Amino acid sequence: MTDTMASRTNFDTDLSVRIRAVETIPLHIPFGSPFQIATARESSREFLEALIVRVHTDQGVFGIGETQAWRRQGSAELLPNLMHSIHGQFEPLLVGRSPFDVNAIMQDLNATLYNSLYAQAAIGDALYDLIGKFLNVPVHVLLGGKSRDRVRVGAVLSMKPTVEELVESAQAFYERGFRHFGLKIGIDPAADLRNARALRETFGDGIVLRVDANASMNFDAAANLLRKLEPFDIDVAEQPIAIWDVDGLAALSQAVAMPIMADESVSTDHSLLDIIKRRAATVVQTKTAKNGGIHYIKRLWNLAEAAGMRIYPGNHPSTSIATSAVAHMCAASPIPVMEGVFAVGMSGALADDIAENSIRPIDGEVPVPDGPGLGVTLDEDKLAKYRIEV
Ligand SMILES: [Mg+2]
Repeated sequence: MTDTMASRTNFDTDLSVRIRAVETIPLHIPFGSPFQIATARESSREFLEALIVRVHTDQGVFGIGETQAWRRQGSAELLPNLMHSIHGQFEPLLVGRSPFDVNAIMQDLNATLYNSLYAQAAIGDALYDLIGKFLNVPVHVLLGGKSRDRVRVGAVLSMKPTVEELVESAQAFYERGFRHFGLKIGIDPAADLRNARALRETFGDGIVLRVDANASMNFDAAANLLRKLEPFDIDVAEQPIAIWDVDGLAALSQAVAMPIMADESVSTDHSLLDIIKRRAATVVQTKTAKNGGIHYIKRLWNLAEAAGMRIYPGNHPSTSIATSAVAHMCAASPIPVMEGVFAVGMSGALADDIAENSIRPIDGEVPVPDGPGLGVTLDEDKLAKYRIEV
């Protein structure tokens, strides 16, 4: 028997693998410092609600995926809801099937719970992880191969009580090699202007400055503030107005000089098509949980590329699992992607991680994981430490 035939035989054996069970692990992971954005202004968050999913097979290998119960920015999911969807609706559809049948499985999950993207994200990404582990290749190989070894990422500048503290937080990121900043705006326009001016005075042209209102402003307030921010060379204004107001985003794109990014307004491919048809934004942000993981985000990126939009890879604050999923997608993208905030959980927002090999930015860049699958090894002690009863 030749080597080729031998490996072919092994490959056939791998394809016989079947999904045996789905395990969910709900976690409360503390933030390092309070995470304040314009929506949900009543309180800042003390911990992230993350859900880790393990898809187990009859051959012992398992795949891991992550989603979050973010409960802001259009997310209405709670950890118990996500777990109920996954165990009550998805698990019976998954058990006994081949993890290689990602497209058919995702189609069935969506047919069962329409647009349940937050729940589907963890399952789909776990299947990609599983396939990569079975074939002994990183997920970026499954996505078409690696176009880059490192992915430059941006930092979120969460709201601070004073402009001095805001600049101090930016300085800390700058010293770690970050050059792309997403400044949270939308509660106090005077403070927003002060912050933007202070950042330009401190860093000059040495940084790229973006602003993000998290859908919090009305049209007039947004148009007024964005015009006043124009002298500070803002690269893009992220989701200034309400999720549902796509016509408003289109009008805003005409009314102000800076480009507009749609984030909360984009969930499915249909919602992105709507944005494109109405020319409501020229930048689109995707997130693992919001947009349903790798399986669906691939489609969004293809649509965005075809429409000539810029792609901003984001995430809700997350552990290394969702960070890795986005890093693999960025690595496999043959066209440039923007310096997104998908490493936000690891760039300082979260106090801890649940991976043995945390994916940490080095000089503002995330190294693309090269291990099989997503390349993340779970730290069982950390899982136990942050696990909650639901
Ligand atoms: Mg956003």
